[in-house]
Amino acid sequence: MTRSGPSFQPEPLPRRGDQFEQWLKAQREEREVQSSEWRTLDALLDTYRLHADTGTPLDQHACENGNPDDCYGCYEAAAKEQQ
Ligand SMILES: [Zn+2]
Repeated sequence: MTRSGPSFQPEPLPRRGDQFEQWLKAQREEREVQSSEWRTLDALLDTYRLHADTGTPLDQHACENGNPDDCYGCYEAAAKEQQ
């Protein structure tokens, strides 16, 4: 897969209030509050919002520090998860 050339269309970045955030929120609201599924969806929603707030594409690491260059442990942990 190449990321250049005239046919390349960048994926739209996550944004607060977009259809995906709305969908995650709706899924969470169908669950009993504080059930394990609710908490999983809540964590996903948090992660999605972190991507939105930091302008990070979903296939890249969104860092709570706001800057992946500043992140040590969490970046390596995320890289390991993907292996
Ligand atoms: Zn990080």
